Amino acid sequence: MGTSEKTQLIEKARNLGVKFIRLQFTDIFGVMKNVAITVEQLDKALDNELMFDGSSIDGFARIEESDMYLRPDIKSFEVFPWRPREGGVARLICDVYNPDGSPFEGDPRYVLKKVLTEAAEMGYTMQVGPEMEFFLFNVDKDGRPTLETHDSAGYFDLAPVDLGENARRAMVLTLEEMGFEIEASHHEVAPGQHEIDFKYSEALDVADKIMTFKMVVRTTAQRHGLHATFMPKPIFGINGSGMHMNQSLFKDGKNAFYDPSTPDQLSETAKYYIGGLVKHARAIAALTNPTINSYKRLVPGYEAPVYVAWSGRNRSPLIRIPAKRGSSTRIELRNPDPACNPYLAIAAALKAGLDGIKNKIQAPPPTNQNIYHMTAAERKELNIDSLPGSLAEALQELAKDDVIKSALGDHVYEKFVEAKTLEWDNYRVQIHTWEVDEYLTKF
Ligand code: GLU
Ligand code: MG
Ligand code: MG
Repeated sequence: MGTSEKTQLIEKARNLGVKFIRLQFTDIFGVMKNVAITVEQLDKALDNELMFDGSSIDGFARIEESDMYLRPDIKSFEVFPWRPREGGVARLICDVYNPDGSPFEGDPRYVLKKVLTEAAEMGYTMQVGPEMEFFLFNVDKDGRPTLETHDSAGYFDLAPVDLGENARRAMVLTLEEMGFEIEASHHEVAPGQHEIDFKYSEALDVADKIMTFKMVVRTTAQRHGLHATFMPKPIFGINGSGMHMNQSLFKDGKNAFYDPSTPDQLSETAKYYIGGLVKHARAIAALTNPTINSYKRLVPGYEAPVYVAWSGRNRSPLIRIPAKRGSSTRIELRNPDPACNPYLAIAAALKAGLDGIKNKIQAPPPTNQNIYHMTAAERKELNIDSLPGSLAEALQELAKDDVIKSALGDHVYEKFVEAKTLEWDNYRVQIHTWEVDEYLTKF
């Protein structure tokens, strides 16, 4: 970072009345971490001299190699609009480095940067547009979150049924103040469920924005006396929350998925990218759907995908090609949920697509009928696989997939699998209410 860039930022922070700066990064499991410094320390932080103990962060480092350094990304400077103007708070998103000056392999942002570099070497940049869904729940008199939704509105409904409208409006305004371009926001299908979509942009910027988005939505909900959750399926029997990932590659400033000369106007590159996503879909699920609860969403009947297929027309498959063409040509991957680590989920999807392009992996023919109406035999006939049915199954798929594993690197892969296996084991030994209801009186 140049001295003038640095001085300018310090000056900007002072002029904006900023007193505290939060240095943020994301752990392997998609949880944002931060350390606050005062504006007096900013100089030092911008010289990458800020050290922290990596062994205290889940999945990061062992005690013996625990000193780590934060390198702020100067472009990520944003003031928190909800904090006081006087003695304000701003944030900087950071990369994590080892004491010897090399990037830390366990940093999810580094994992995504590595796959983006691989794409750049092939001449591509990646654009991503996420569709963020979440629930707003009431809190009880002690401020604890409940599962009660405060409304009974549905898709695209308006106030007064939609009581979350004020909260959602405040979220949109805050996000805009923090540099987001909001394209749409609406009530989703389930009671208490909302969606806010922001404009697509470069993959790394979008991953950063997803983390910021979750922080803003949670904070704003709290300020409105509500609890926002990105848990994929909080309530049985109604829709869960997805994070559809619209993605496209650009080469020489042009959308590489668009080809006006083919019948469906999709390029060969797009088809290979789809081929790669289909091939690796079952392993990618471990990253795009990383919790036990994620797999309760991926069941028939709730607009979430269950089968590995693609279509230009139909919403039931894993991959949908929205009708827009030209520079908006894109592939919508529908299984990711908002509990994922966006850096790792985007890295895994991109790696799969690049593998498709490099190895000319043929996409299967599109499936334009409703897959949910097919019998198991019909699906078998058409070679339509299912997504993993559980986190355990997804982890087994990931273990078999060297391409996706290589995108993560050894460190992230090992720490991720270790923690997720433990999570599965903790869940597996529990006795769930469903079991008691089903068996207690029967046997
Ligand atoms: N909430 C649905 C899901 O779980 C998606 C609804 C939609 O198509 O936007 O993926
Ligand atoms: Mg939606
Ligand atoms: Mg969508």
